[in-house]
Amino acid sequence: MTMTETSLKIKAKSLIQQQKLNWPVARTNYAGLGKVESKTFQFDGFQIIVQFNPERIRSSAAKTDSQSISERACFLCPENQPKEQESIDFNGRYKIQVNPYPIFNEHFTIPLKKHLPQEIMPHFSEMLQLSKQLPGYTVFYNGPKCGASAPDHFHFQAGNKNVMPVVSEIDTVAGNFGQVLLHHDQIRITAVGKEYLRKLILLESGSADVLSNYFQKLVSVLNERGQEGEPMMNVLCTFEDEAWKIMVFPRDKQRPSQFFAEGEKQILMSPASVEMSGLVILPRKEDFEKITKEDLADIYGQVTIAEAPSDSPERGEQEKPVKDWAWLICEIESVLKTRDHD
Ligand SMILES: [Zn+2]
Repeated sequence: MTMTETSLKIKAKSLIQQQKLNWPVARTNYAGLGKVESKTFQFDGFQIIVQFNPERIRSSAAKTDSQSISERACFLCPENQPKEQESIDFNGRYKIQVNPYPIFNEHFTIPLKKHLPQEIMPHFSEMLQLSKQLPGYTVFYNGPKCGASAPDHFHFQAGNKNVMPVVSEIDTVAGNFGQVLLHHDQIRITAVGKEYLRKLILLESGSADVLSNYFQKLVSVLNERGQEGEPMMNVLCTFEDEAWKIMVFPRDKQRPSQFFAEGEKQILMSPASVEMSGLVILPRKEDFEKITKEDLADIYGQVTIAEAPSDSPERGEQEKPVKDWAWLICEIESVLKTRDHD
């Protein structure tokens, strides 16, 4: 490990300590993490952790439609940030800042210095460099309609690595439920499907160039699904033993029906990367108390990319073929084959 790699991590850790000392909001909220209630639901071969964290109401209930966004001051632009908010530089282009409403004991928001929209493709290689320089953390990206509360200002986040269940269980889960789509000396691409409640594509490689190339291919396939703007997704990235693991969760919905329900039926869960990883943050105590395994399976089923049409008869009646998970796997395989013949 080079000096640069470790020095960013050291600076980031000391930024947290610094902000806890001189920013009361950060101090209170990081101290509050110690009181967060948590429970674990055991599924077949994996677990989902549910937490009650009232400070996260800002993010879960954030209005992210374009009108609301255009009418509010961007909280990632320096002129609108509290005077106590400090930052360290990454790469000359990003600021690493302490997230004042944390999920993790060390939780960073990493905005681009420029106010440009949330869109991963132009920034993917920087995600790789960032995670390489932040060993011990998972770097993650929420698409503009997949949990980002600032869809108008590009940002990553980072948090303590193994707190998100998928990060510690991915090898087991990929082995148990995964379908390898491509495997050669430079990369392995695995699809992890429905037994896991949500679906993801795992890319593993030690080469940033190879990963960028295949990630671009994956995004171009996801683009064919015809969703408005960027294909809906959450992306997690870790770097360990000289290789990256990228987990891409294709999405169909921003929020489940329970989010909009009224009274007893409402569950204020707004899935982002952290939830897709298996750590569910609920800002309301009543939701934390009443949520069941069945609710979780149902919510994941709504927000993840849909299963094959045979599983949902009403979809089969539509004229256009539905670009679902089965379609995605076929399409990725065909793109990968084409490339191998180039
Ligand atoms: Zn901004």
